[in-house]
Order: sequence, then C-alpha cells, then structure tokens
Amino acid sequence: MNTLTCIVCPIGCSLNVEEGPQGADGFPALTITGNNCHRGLGYAQEEIRAPKRVVTATCAIEPPPASTGHSLGFPRRVPVKTLSPCPKALINEVLADIYRLRLKPPVKAGEPVITDWQGTGITIVAVRSII
Ligand code: SF4
Repeated sequence: MNTLTCIVCPIGCSLNVEEGPQGADGFPALTITGNNCHRGLGYAQEEIRAPKRVVTATCAIEPPPASTGHSLGFPRRVPVKTLSPCPKALINEVLADIYRLRLKPPVKAGEPVITDWQGTGITIVAVRSII
C-alpha cells in the first residue's frame, strides 16, 4: 500500500493506494481511499502511473557588450518554467537543455524559450522580463 498526500487543493487529503492485479491497459488496478473528492482519484492514478512535475530553473542571459555601458549589474540568469507538468522521467533531460541555452535580451515574461521540447509538446517560458 502506498500513502500519498493529494496536492490538488490545500486540504491535502491523505490517500491510500492499493495495487491490484494488472489490467488490460498494462497497469495494476488501483483501489484509492481517503480522498474527499473525485479529483484525488485522478491525482493518485497519475502519481502512481505517470508522475509529472512543473519544472522550474534558471537560464543564462548573454550580457550586453561592455561597450554599451549596460553590462554592469545586468542579470546573468532568468527564471524559467514549463508551462505544463513534465513527466518525472524526463526532468533531467529538460534541465540539461535549459542549462545549455544562452538567451539574448530582451526576454519578456511568458515568452517561450523552448517550444515543443523534443516533440513532447512541453513549452518552457521565461518567468521574468529582462530588458
Ligand atoms: S482529494 Fe479532493 S479535497 Fe482532498 S486534497 Fe485532493 S482535491 Fe482536495
């Protein structure tokens, strides 16, 4: 039996998940108890079968040339995040690609810095504007 804390809402129900025999879909049947609403069922199923997380990181920014006089105190990194949750198994690969990027300012908050990462549909956006 697995015990999870549902993070869908602030109540944080403690969910008990018992795995049964494997079904036709290749996954074990799950018996989930402890949820106060149906959303806890979906959360527990996804968390057991295909856990995902929103990925947050920072990405390098190319500073303006020293000759412009704007390089002093210019931010070196910009916070970024995935627009949708990313499968946990792919998080290290996503982070490696984010850390390889060097963005040229200006960067606007909400602007995609990577679109459809490796064909998965995952988009990574800037969280802060750097102008
Ligand atoms: S099961 Fe429903 S009520 Fe309980 S934490 Fe999850 S979303 Fe909230």
